[in-house]
Amino acid sequence: MKAIRSAPRLKQFLSEARRRNKRLTVGFVPTMGALHEGHASLIRRARKENSLVVVSIFVNPLQFGPKEDFARYPRPVSKDLALCRRNGADIVFLPEARSFLKEKSLQKKTRLPELANKLCGPFRPGHFQGVADIVKLFHGIVRPDRAYYGLKDYQQCRVIEETTRAAFGKTIRVILCPTVREKDGLAMSSRNRYLSRQERKDALRLIEALRLGRRLALQGRLGHPEIEQRMRGIVLRIPGVRIDYLSIVHAKSLRKMVESTLSNTAPLLVAGAIRIGGTRLIDNLLAAKRRKARRL
Ligand code: AMP
Repeated sequence: MKAIRSAPRLKQFLSEARRRNKRLTVGFVPTMGALHEGHASLIRRARKENSLVVVSIFVNPLQFGPKEDFARYPRPVSKDLALCRRNGADIVFLPEARSFLKEKSLQKKTRLPELANKLCGPFRPGHFQGVADIVKLFHGIVRPDRAYYGLKDYQQCRVIEETTRAAFGKTIRVILCPTVREKDGLAMSSRNRYLSRQERKDALRLIEALRLGRRLALQGRLGHPEIEQRMRGIVLRIPGVRIDYLSIVHAKSLRKMVESTLSNTAPLLVAGAIRIGGTRLIDNLLAAKRRKARRL
């Protein structure tokens, strides 16, 4: 495994590799480091499906708001490199912020799809712009055949699907991978390490609420506002919790589901973002109703 710290060096390495092997396929896994089993699952999937695997580690300042945790975001670099190696990465790209943020592609803002304004959008102004701009820069440098993203960050996945298609057409396939959870159901996240022992226990209320929301939405007996109220009831048992949202939305557009469509077969997303102490947690569950089998 090789660590590369500059974009021109990475481009040169990749173009030589492509020259040597005309059938080379590149799988790309962008991360912000503080890697865990969720990231590892993406790296392993990329390893399985490509001849060369590039992982990037870059805490992207553009996607943090002024009052967010950029400065304290964990950066355990040597542990991260060991995880990348263990899971089959060939190259770890660790760009140096000062020169990387001067790259030309960042001068032009990526056009965001409407769905970027839903769910987390209003609570983290500028966040998806920062994500989309940096992902476009990475994709332009690596030009992967496949890029791997985790459904844990569902809205980010949808933003990246749309913006990548707009910028690169079908040359880069965005592959969405399942959320990896702890045994008790908590979605793995680099931010979980901020939680105290009690907060870690309280955090389970989020997945409990989402599971209830999914079950009720699929039953189709209750309307959306009532289901949301019940989800809130579960999360509000956490002392001092702040709820950004607990919502049932259309999985593609992320628009709120109109009640009359709750009982139809449109794929749903049950998503939540809450703040416990100083830590913001997000999670989601997808739910698709099976179509009734047609009588022959
Ligand atoms: P991050 O380092 O948080 O920017 O995440 C890098 C990539 O790993 C993103 O595509 C995330 O969606 C994905 N990821 C983070 N946590 C998980 C998880 N628990 N399961 C699957 N993928 C994840």
